[in-house]
Amino acid sequence: MLNKTPAKEKNSVTVIDRADHNVSRKSISDNALKVLYRLNNNGYDAYLVGGGVRDILLGEQPKDFDITTNATPEQIKKLFRNCRLIGRRFRLAHIVFGRDIIEVATFRGHHGQEEDKKAKQNHSKQSEHGMLLRDNIYGTIEEDAERRDFSINALYYSTKDYKIYDFANGLEDIEQKKVRLIGDPETRYREDPVRMLRAIRFATKLDMDIEEETAKPIQSLASLLGNIPPARMFEEYLKLFLGGKAEANFYHLEQHDLLEYIFPHISQWFKKDPDGHAMQFVHRVLENTDRRINNDQRVTPAFLLAAVIWYSLEENIKHIMTNNSVNQQDAFFTAMHEIMAEQQRCIAIPKRFQLPMKDIWILQQKLTRREGGKAFKLIEHPRFRAAYDFLLLRGQVEGGELLELANWWTHFQEATPETQTQMVKSFRNPRSKRRRSVRKRTKPVNKD
Ligand code: ATP
Ligand code: MG
Repeated sequence: MLNKTPAKEKNSVTVIDRADHNVSRKSISDNALKVLYRLNNNGYDAYLVGGGVRDILLGEQPKDFDITTNATPEQIKKLFRNCRLIGRRFRLAHIVFGRDIIEVATFRGHHGQEEDKKAKQNHSKQSEHGMLLRDNIYGTIEEDAERRDFSINALYYSTKDYKIYDFANGLEDIEQKKVRLIGDPETRYREDPVRMLRAIRFATKLDMDIEEETAKPIQSLASLLGNIPPARMFEEYLKLFLGGKAEANFYHLEQHDLLEYIFPHISQWFKKDPDGHAMQFVHRVLENTDRRINNDQRVTPAFLLAAVIWYSLEENIKHIMTNNSVNQQDAFFTAMHEIMAEQQRCIAIPKRFQLPMKDIWILQQKLTRREGGKAFKLIEHPRFRAAYDFLLLRGQVEGGELLELANWWTHFQEATPETQTQMVKSFRNPRSKRRRSVRKRTKPVNKD
């Protein structure tokens, strides 16, 4: 990655010359380069920063390219026709190239200094927990670097001189594979508790360790995640669990006592029955999710969410049935609404994912009914495949009748239409049998 010991400059910035690092224009997208050059050509400073530099240094393909500049959002907007200004918490410019979006942020400045507090009051805001609610104070590149989360994310690449500017010893941490917060860890987590989740995510994604001082306060500050808006938590859920490292993130989050702020239900099973069905099932689902993503197969965020809740849902249904003497159907729907509301308090699941979750759960019951034309109808259900996969994994964990049921559906899907008809015929509809026998018994009574 680096060819020689970099030179230290004033303000403890380390500058790496082009000949001594592996970030080349070839590894940066054309759109990102266009934005960098246009900013430069109009007299602004502009740098590639964050994951874009970090991942190239690590020999990986960056997910996206983030740019930072001394131009204000309004100045950026003037330069690009395809620019949208977004965000309240952080005001950002999005330069839109079809489906590719390049995010451009203005250098961020510091907070809380008494002398300029008044001037900044309208631009920066902190909650009672020390959390930054608004962060639109602009600053210098040095200040911007200090405001970033981890040292490995505070590396700046310039298209003016093709040098890398390292303000927080990020290069050393990349070499030593350490995720280290910039500044005092506790303060930085209090400012933004999501940094705790980001520490875990970068450690698993980049195969690094969380540096000791950075890891230390996490457990005691974990509960601050309860103050994060559930919509933001959903975004973090997607990044943690649909990036191909779901299994590793799950166990790391649990180790640091963070899991309950994302998945409150499975986190309880983890504590009370770590080797039970619920945990075995979720383990398989996590493995499957990663395998599918790493094979470029489609995954829906709904499947894992349905899975982490399933065993609590079953338990709730039983509980409601015994305590309220209601039928299974009513208990099922009451339990489903209650449990969904509990989950929504942690992460706000958009409707378009809630509906498939509910379908997967409802179909678990329906798949037990195969008589008459039901099996043929079920197999046409748009969520059949997901529900069947879900059932199969449950069957593999629980064995017995559930596995037999799942296997039946496996055969049914593979069978010819004739065999399918035979398979269905072998079922007696328990209801029609009951109705017949009830009719037989009641007839004489009615006559008399
Ligand atoms: P990736 O895109 O691969 O997930 P990234 O490092 O690019 O990783 P982004 O979420 O895209 O992460 O953020 C871009 C950069 O913005 C980060 O590298 C970091 O410097 C800064 N940043 C993002 N979120 C925070 C935060 N919560 N606190 C401080 N800095 C942050
Ligand atoms: Mg990024």
